Formats: sequence, structure tokens, C-alpha cells
Amino acid sequence: MTDPANAPVLEIRNLHKAYGSLEVIKGVDISAPAGHVLSLIGSSGSGKSTILRCANLLEDSQQGDILFCGEPVTWKGEGLNRHPADKAQMIRIRTNLSMVFQQFNLWAHMTILQNVMEAPLTVLKRNRDEVEASARAYLDKVGIGDKCDVYPAQLSGGQQQRAAIARALCMEPKALLFDEPTSALDPELEQEVVRVIKSLAEEGRTMLVVTHDMKMANDISDHVVFLHQGLIEEQGPPDQVFGNPQSERLRGFLSATA
Ligand code: ADP
Ligand code: MG
Repeated sequence: MTDPANAPVLEIRNLHKAYGSLEVIKGVDISAPAGHVLSLIGSSGSGKSTILRCANLLEDSQQGDILFCGEPVTWKGEGLNRHPADKAQMIRIRTNLSMVFQQFNLWAHMTILQNVMEAPLTVLKRNRDEVEASARAYLDKVGIGDKCDVYPAQLSGGQQQRAAIARALCMEPKALLFDEPTSALDPELEQEVVRVIKSLAEEGRTMLVVTHDMKMANDISDHVVFLHQGLIEEQGPPDQVFGNPQSERLRGFLSATA
């Protein structure tokens, strides 16, 4: 057995996922060692979001293993009836693979500070004073420490997304999962979020990043995975994937996004 200390934070082996009779992930292997940034790229509908959602158990999958720090998810049932067997394990994994969504998903009725504090308080049952101090520090870190007491609607999209990143960080997760974090933003606001994501990569955080931003993927990634119709078509270090793509499909995809 692998020593858990050396195991990848997240490992996916032979993942299969269907929605009813529609098979959308057809046998995908992905490994995210600690401190690595892995980017998932590919056309719309290729299965990028589904992989992230299966990885942190927001979605069930029908086949394959998902290992968190070497610990395999335990399942009950089979096929379309396969679900995580152990609720405590599911919550532990989900809270340790903290997700940042395209549409921010902040709670509109809570202030920014309350948004960041909510899950550490209610899910992790951490001490309120400690959580507040850490929430304020993370909001400072993403450059919106002065926005603690306002509501999401009072912020720009870029500020809301940075609040969502602070919220994910405040869970002290083992890895951050980003699903198209800049796609909903106007170009001038996109860069403020890209800067935050880059600084997290430079800190050595483990991240899985789904993005349409090839420049960011090239800048931050240790490894890039190109998906096509639920399968990995090509993968490698960014200089290889972007600088010397082998498959016709990847070449076509890159020239279409350039
Ligand atoms: P991407 O993120 O790469 O754009 P998705 O993972 O969202 O792709 O989708 C992969 C495929 O799964 C697409 O064909 C999409 O239509 C389908 N799909 C995604 N979510 C659902 C769902 N909840 N029900 C049915 N089909 C879905
Ligand atoms: Mg998607």
C-alpha cells in the first residue's frame, strides 16, 4: 500500500460516469500530487465539470476508484445505483477538495464575511473567533479585506469570485478545485482573479483547474489534460501540450481558442 504521506492528494482511476444512458466520462485517470497544479482543458461538453464534480463527490460515478490522499472512496451499490457508502468520509473528502464555481455561488443574504465563515463554522464546527480571524486574513489575501460587511450584490463579479476563493481557502482544504473561475467575468475583471489563482499556484497549493484561459493554464500548470468526449486525448507538461501538441484534435482546439 502507498504511504498516505506520499500519496497524491487526489487520484482518479478509470472513472466512468453516465447520466442515464448517456455516458459522459468513459475511463479517465488523473493524479494530482501535493503541490501540483493540474489543468483540464477541452471543448464545451467534453466532461471537464463532470470530472471535478465526481472527484469531490458532488456527483456519483458508476465505475472506477477515487482516492483522497491514498484513501479510496468506499461505495455501496453498483452502476447507476453506486453511491459513497460512508457519509463521514464523503464530507471529509468534499470539504478537503474545496470547489470554486463559475457563477461564484455566494449566498446573497449573507455578508461577505458570513459567506466565508459559514462552512468552517457549520460543517467543520470550528471555533468562531478563530474562523473569523482566518476569514478576515483570507479576504485580505485576495484583496477585498475592506468588503467584509457588504453583501455579494454590492460587489463586482471579480470581487465576488475573489470572495468565493477566500471562502474555499477558509476550509483549509488539501486541494482547490476551480471550474471555469473566470468565464463569467468581463475581461478587465478576469485578470484580478487570474492574479489570485497564480499567487495560489506559486504558494504550492494543490489545484485542479478547469479553464478556457490557455494563457493561465500555460502559466500555472505542472500538467495539462486535454479531454475529448469523456476521454483524455492528450496530456503532458504545458510546454509540450501547448508548444508541441501531437493530436489533430488538440491542435484544432488550440487554434480555435487562440
Ligand atoms: P464541460 O464542463 O467540459 O463543458 P460537462 O462535464 O458539463 O462538460 O458535460 C459533459 C456532458 O455531460 C455533456 O454532454 C453534458 O450535456 C452532459 N451533462 C452534464 N451535466 C448533465 C446532467 N446533469 N444531466 C444530463 N447530462 C449532463
Ligand atoms: Mg463545464
